[in-house]
Amino acid sequence: MSDCIFCKIAAGEIPCRKVYEDGDLLAFHDINPVAPVHFMIIPKEHIARLDEAHARHEWLLGRMLLLAPMLAKEQGLGHGFRTVINTGPGGGQEVYHLHMHIFGGESADYRPHRL
Ligand code: 5GP
Ligand code: ZN
Repeated sequence: MSDCIFCKIAAGEIPCRKVYEDGDLLAFHDINPVAPVHFMIIPKEHIARLDEAHARHEWLLGRMLLLAPMLAKEQGLGHGFRTVINTGPGGGQEVYHLHMHIFGGESADYRPHRL
């Protein structure tokens, strides 16, 4: 997807503050964090939204979930963290390349809230 900002980040065409990278996945800090620590995990493959993932993506989606706690701990979130995947206009999705937000941390103006 040539006009997708996260594909461009995955291709190294747009810089990011990288947290993790392997052949299939990339993690980087959100440019506009909502918490003291806020990064996201994306597949390098362009999947626009969670409800467009297919059975062949099962392994990739599982890897995203298993990677989240590992990276969260590395980023100082051993006490716990939130994960969010916004899907579609009804879910407030702004960037149409699947991404899982991971955020948390301690600060005066951030409190994890109930869903
Ligand atoms: P969504 O609402 O789609 O789940 O969230 C998109 C997220 O991507 C937002 O939190 C926004 O701050 C982040 N974002 C948008 N553009 C960029 C960018 O160019 N670089 C980084 N690092 N984050 C971005
Ligand atoms: Zn993309």
